[in-house]
Amino acid sequence: APYQRVDLRGLLKSTLVMLGRKIGDDVTVVKEFDPTLPLVPCYAAELNQVWTNLIVNAVQAMDGHGTLTIRTRRERDQAVIEICDTGPGVPENIRSRIFEPFFTTKAVGEGTGLGLDISWRIVVKKHKGDLRVESEPGNTRFQVRIPLDPEPG
Ligand code: ADP
Ligand code: MG
Repeated sequence: APYQRVDLRGLLKSTLVMLGRKIGDDVTVVKEFDPTLPLVPCYAAELNQVWTNLIVNAVQAMDGHGTLTIRTRRERDQAVIEICDTGPGVPENIRSRIFEPFFTTKAVGEGTGLGLDISWRIVVKKHKGDLRVESEPGNTRFQVRIPLDPEPG
């Protein structure tokens, strides 16, 4: 997949369209896209996989009912993308483990435990960015940071 400058707004919108059926009618989707965010140098198809993982996790956590917020902004030399949900949150005692491969709290067949591991590798290793979570009941925020002027890994 080519490394190129991409309009994240367009990329995120197409991910949302693709996931429409999965998101369902009982999730309110709020888009807060910073119109001044410059094009972001990235592997678009792989970042698309990251949004997909984070959005599917968010919808599953909310059991299909709640508010999904997708936000972008520029912070100094980074693009910041946030995927937020109003689900029960990531319990404190597992927060340090959710990025480990095969860690899952879902039933067999519902989750492989690989989504966050893969996402972490795409964001941190491949883009030299950052992936973090902040969570409390009713408010979970996964934050992706992608450098705006890097060399690809
Ligand atoms: P999977 O979705 O297959 O379980 P992931 O790597 O995507 O694997 O996520 C690992 C675990 O992290 C999930 O099983 C769940 O316990 C937790 N998790 C991820 N996203 C959320 C979220 N938005 N809200 C609550 N828990 C989450
Ligand atoms: Mg997942």
